[in-house]
Amino acid sequence: MKRPQHGKGEFHHKRSLGQNFLTDDALFEQLVDLSGVGKEDAVLEIGPGAGGMTKALSARCRQVVAIEVDETLLPILRVALERCGNVRLVHGDVLRLNLPELTAPLGPFHIVANIPYYLTTELMTLLLTSDMPIQSISLMVQKEAAQRMVARPGEEGYGMLAVRAQYFYAPQIMLDVPACMFTPPPKVDSAFVVMPRRERPPVEVQDEALFFRVAAAAFAMRRKTMENNLIASFRVSREEAKQWLSLCDIPDGARGETLSLQDFAALSNAMTKPL
Ligand code: SAM
Repeated sequence: MKRPQHGKGEFHHKRSLGQNFLTDDALFEQLVDLSGVGKEDAVLEIGPGAGGMTKALSARCRQVVAIEVDETLLPILRVALERCGNVRLVHGDVLRLNLPELTAPLGPFHIVANIPYYLTTELMTLLLTSDMPIQSISLMVQKEAAQRMVARPGEEGYGMLAVRAQYFYAPQIMLDVPACMFTPPPKVDSAFVVMPRRERPPVEVQDEALFFRVAAAAFAMRRKTMENNLIASFRVSREEAKQWLSLCDIPDGARGETLSLQDFAALSNAMTKPL
C-alpha cells in the first residue's frame, strides 16, 4: 500500500483508529455545502485526520473545534492548519472528553465529520442522548449505518438508532461515496448523512423516557409480537398489553419492528394513564 506523505514525516494509517482519509478538496467542499453550515456557525469536527475537512470548515464557518485522538497526527494538523486561526485543535478521545464543557464556548453548534466507522454506534448514542445544543449532525458513515438512521418501520435496519435519530433530527442520506474516494479504501461503501435538529419532535410524547422504553421493548426480541415484548419488558399481564395495543389501534400480532414513532408515542401516552 502506498504511504501518503502528510507534512514532514511519513504517516502510517492506523486501521484500528478507522483512518480512511478523504483527499479530494472538491469533495470536502461538497460535504460542507451539503451540511448547510455557514459563516455564522460553530462546528465540532470529530477526527480531523490530515485536516482536509477542517480547512474547508475553517474557511466557511465562524469557529471550528476539531478533536483528534492520534497524537502522531497533531504535528501534521498543526502545519495543515497554521493559517486557520478559527480552529481549536483538541487532542483526545471523543468518547472520553467532557464534550459539554469543551463545546460550551461555541454556543449552539453543528457537527460535521468523516468519522471512524468503529465509533458510529457509540458516538451516535452519545450525541442523541446528550442535551448539548447541537443544531445539526452531518456525518460520513458506513452506508449500512446511514441506512439504519433513515430506516422506516418494517425496513431492514429499523431500530433504536432510527427512532432516536428521527425523533430529534430529520436524517437524510445526501450522498453515496464509493470506497475508492478514501485512502486507504475501506472494505465498505460510505454515505454522507445530514440531520438537521427538529424544532420539536414529530410526535406528541407525554413521557420521553417511557417513549424510548417502549421503543426499546419493540426491538428487544425482533421476532416476537409487540404484545409479548410489552409483557416481557414491562412485566404486565397479557390482558393489560392487549388493552394498551387496542387503545392505540395497533393490530393483534403486530411485530414491534413494524411500529412507527406515532405508534410508540400513542402506546407510551396510553401507558401513562391507568387502564
Ligand atoms: N477527517 C479526515 C478525513 O476526512 O480525511 C479523517 C477521517 S478518518 C475516517 C477518522 C479520524 O478519526 C482519524 O483521524 C482517526 O485518528 C480519528 N479518530 C479515531 N478514533 C477517534 C476517537 N475516539 N476520538 C477522536 N478521533 C478519533
